[in-house]
Amino acid sequence: MIDFLTETEAMRDQLVAWRRDFHMHPELKYEERRTAAIVAAHLEALGYCVQTGVARTGVVGLLEGAAPGPVVMLRFDMDALPVTEETGAPYASRTPGCMHACGHDGHVAIGMGLAQLLAGLRLDIAGSVKLIFQPAEEGGNGAALMVQEGVLEAPRPDVFLSAHIWTDAPVGTVNVTPGPVMAAADTFTCTVRGRGGHGALPHQSVDPVVAAAHVVTALQTIVSRNVSPLDTAVVTVGAIHGGDAFNVIPPTVELRGTIRTYQPHTRTMIHRRMQETVDGVAAGCGAAADLEIVPLTPAVINDPEVTQVVMRAAESILGADRVHSGERTMGSEDAAFFLNEIPGCYFFLGGANPEKHLGAPHHNPRFDFDEDVLPLGVRVLARASATYLMQSD
Ligand SMILES: [Zn+2]
Ligand SMILES: [Zn+2]
Repeated sequence: MIDFLTETEAMRDQLVAWRRDFHMHPELKYEERRTAAIVAAHLEALGYCVQTGVARTGVVGLLEGAAPGPVVMLRFDMDALPVTEETGAPYASRTPGCMHACGHDGHVAIGMGLAQLLAGLRLDIAGSVKLIFQPAEEGGNGAALMVQEGVLEAPRPDVFLSAHIWTDAPVGTVNVTPGPVMAAADTFTCTVRGRGGHGALPHQSVDPVVAAAHVVTALQTIVSRNVSPLDTAVVTVGAIHGGDAFNVIPPTVELRGTIRTYQPHTRTMIHRRMQETVDGVAAGCGAAADLEIVPLTPAVINDPEVTQVVMRAAESILGADRVHSGERTMGSEDAAFFLNEIPGCYFFLGGANPEKHLGAPHHNPRFDFDEDVLPLGVRVLARASATYLMQSD
């Protein structure tokens, strides 16, 4: 069994150089043109069949092995965030107000390294490698658009793999979990409608501020009273807007928030209970309310068999004591759109190193990770892919 140590150590400096270049030149969702052009040129030079402009700025590279076999799809997201970098690193962002604060620069570098490693093994591969470089993971649902544009067809993948660099865990560890790992996300907007009037004459109005306050409180009973204690969910009201004078009762108040769930039946139940709560509580206050729920992404659910393959790959490289399981978050990830259709595994590559002061949370202006994760990421993904693609392995 090849462990890819020599190959990945040999490309270490190149991986770091790619990552730092992407880090210095971050691009927001659906604007990843420079990044995509570098990726596409690299894949073409390696002999991949390359498609550009998929989901606006995405890139797909297909490598057919020497013999037929399964199609393994690997996904790397490319977008940065509207964050002003404060790391002070020599490779800090050169674009004001834009930063790779989630590690997607590292993902693209890992993808390019993996592309190179697998191209070098083409004659030993039975099957195909489909590499997708995705735009707009950060709230843009780039994955859904890629699926709509046919990325799961011609050829249809048999297996899906994707990894996220994770500063909640130390570098040199991997966290692989079967089943649900990230939550389904929906947003909601609730408009509570009363009747405006003088703040000193409340009996002549219907006060939407008081009604909205009751709605916020009542919504908290859905998770505590309707969701099974053995299941999990979040209902967060993140914004309240209404009124702008101390002596005026406004006509409306708007609430906005997010819903996070793992189980589809819990998601449906929460939507229903929210509607009932909003209607009932507003009516009890003499007001009315409109509720609009917008589904964003389904939950990320890992296939147990593919997860086993990734776990064994990681264990063979790092040893069982550095491969953990059970990392779950109520954050969301649009990789769910791929995992909904193709059995796969989405896992976490530890990226923190307290000794080097690397470990600020994702999306923080001081976010940075230990670049040792780059060769390790290539190695684990290559090892897991080889399980499917190299029969003689
Ligand atoms: Zn992020
Ligand atoms: Zn991310």
